[in-house]
Amino acid sequence: MTEQAHAQIDWDEQGQPLSRTFGDVYFSRTSGVEECRYVFLAHNHLAERFAALPADGRLVIGETGFGTGLNFLCAWQLFEQTAPDTAHLHFVSAEKYPLTRRDLERALALWPELAPQAGQLLAHYVAVHEGFQRFVFAGGRVVLTLLVGDVLDTLPQLDARIEAWFLDGFSPAKNPQMWTPELFAQLARLSAPGATLATFASTGFVRRGLIEAGFAMARVKGFEHKWEMLAGAFLGAPPAGGKPWYARPPRPSGPRAALVIGGGLAGCATASSLAERGWQVTLIERHAELAMEASGNPQGVLYLKLSAHRTALSKLVVSGFGHTRRQLERLQAGSDWSACGVLQLAFDAKEAERQARLAGAFPADLLRAVDASEASQLAGLPLEHGGLWYAEAGWVHPPALCRQLASHPNIRVLRSAEALDLQRVDGQWQACQGNRLLAAAPVAVLCTASEVRQFAVTAHLKLKRIRGQITRLPATAASRRVQTVLCAEGYVAPPRGNEHTLGASFNFQREDLDLCPDEHADNLGMLRQISPALGEALDIEHLDPTQLQGRAAFRSTSPDYLPLIGPVVDAQAFNAAYAGLAKDASRRIDTPAPWLEGLYVNCGHGSRGLITAPLSGELLAAWLDDEALPLPRAVAEACHPSRFLLRELIRGR
Ligand code: SAM
Repeated sequence: MTEQAHAQIDWDEQGQPLSRTFGDVYFSRTSGVEECRYVFLAHNHLAERFAALPADGRLVIGETGFGTGLNFLCAWQLFEQTAPDTAHLHFVSAEKYPLTRRDLERALALWPELAPQAGQLLAHYVAVHEGFQRFVFAGGRVVLTLLVGDVLDTLPQLDARIEAWFLDGFSPAKNPQMWTPELFAQLARLSAPGATLATFASTGFVRRGLIEAGFAMARVKGFEHKWEMLAGAFLGAPPAGGKPWYARPPRPSGPRAALVIGGGLAGCATASSLAERGWQVTLIERHAELAMEASGNPQGVLYLKLSAHRTALSKLVVSGFGHTRRQLERLQAGSDWSACGVLQLAFDAKEAERQARLAGAFPADLLRAVDASEASQLAGLPLEHGGLWYAEAGWVHPPALCRQLASHPNIRVLRSAEALDLQRVDGQWQACQGNRLLAAAPVAVLCTASEVRQFAVTAHLKLKRIRGQITRLPATAASRRVQTVLCAEGYVAPPRGNEHTLGASFNFQREDLDLCPDEHADNLGMLRQISPALGEALDIEHLDPTQLQGRAAFRSTSPDYLPLIGPVVDAQAFNAAYAGLAKDASRRIDTPAPWLEGLYVNCGHGSRGLITAPLSGELLAAWLDDEALPLPRAVAEACHPSRFLLRELIRGR
């Protein structure tokens, strides 16, 4: 297990929090709220700036040291009081030691005037683990991206344009490791032109360091008895652009209207994230209902496939899990989802070894190793193996999540409409079914899993289909004892209503979706591996696979198992523009990528759409709206639809 990553807090006689690690207070002992309003809100001129935002405007605040979230909540409250109803606030904050939920609750109880905002923060404060953690509040009007980790590690991974900085984070004397030229350089790199900055600190080296990084800083009167603090603005130039093939495409012109094609999890999540940003969305689904294909199983599992090496996929999974888990709080527990925990069983020596590495690499509040006896206790029935326990995970009824995501007033769902042809005509993408024009909009996002390849413009994308079949088993009195999701090579969940879901087969050959007795038999075999006791409780030895109920669907997977999320290029023009990379991959080429204006994809979520799809909507919207990315830049690039074109060019194919 890694070192305890939560804030270690002592509470003084007045009930105020103090950091044991830094030996410093979180905020002024006389009034934290007044101090925040004076130092950070007033010296970034936020009341005036919020009030001056256009109806579809947005302001991006960056902070070092989220702490108790007091500054965030004060900024949110002021935003609500002063900004137009339709404007958006985006708050990005770095925190090395997030408070535990209990400490956060205790700290925020100090501010009854902030109770409406604090209540929402607390309600969403689950699965806050390392890396980028996205929170969506007030129907998307207020977005928080919490960068969990040392600010010197996380800020370099951020892709954002910050317009106002709250430079917080314990005093330079108590926390000298943070107040460094490296930090100031990151603040400059991330600053929008003219970005403002305020800090309670007035130390000379902080002022000089900020000036050196490109900020014009002035000493001004500090809060209450403090002589001085610093306030200023960024005068430097934005950094030179990066690799053109992964650059942000120009923001599409025309009305903010989008077609989203495909009503599974990726499509519903995309529609939701766009709708929350004020886009008018037409969601086109070929079936009579949403979530009829891979997102239509009765129960899906929040299964975290992690790597101790912190690969891009592993980072995506931790961030995606957090975001999904917070979204689920809006659904009906019991029928739509359950936070019953997931046990990943160490069913053979290789898996046990892999799990031991994970248990050593991640904190115990995300996952911890349990032996067979504890696993049995958690599961409510005898298990032969121990494994990893994910206390915050569980199962979800994916159609309920899809419906919830698609239920925004800005989303119009076209059911039984199959977009077979896509054409750009007069600045609009037109989706047609034969001669019938289904809908048109300046932006189109294709979320049709492997079938994106059926559109000429995205035929080059690399995706394959893998058939999977689940088995539905009626619960018995004995099987109802199972209290957690159990996974080995397959999975079984506690019953939803009167039925367990058992899954899922992998069949690389079959191209049809007929139910297949062999695959039911495979699923029963996987259940035997998980727990003979549960198998017995479900009487599986007497079940006839030809008579079993279930459903089959295709997972859509890319060659590197990461999804494809982002803007689409003209493949031929791309290959021509960057052909020089075949000879020299490090060669500098400045030609802008040949984007297909307004065209995006979100697909390839494989069997982990529950973990990755909700966050993918946020990522897609961030590309489209030129917003702060909800994931490290390198992870967003690892999910970029152009990555395969680029790799093939470099390999000289
Ligand atoms: N803004 C906070 C609030 O509204 O409650 C108060 C911040 S408190 C004074 C300082 C915070 O900075 C602490 O939560 C601390 O853990 C965090 N911090 C200190 N050094 C850090 C670092 N290097 N990276 C990220 N966070 C850091």
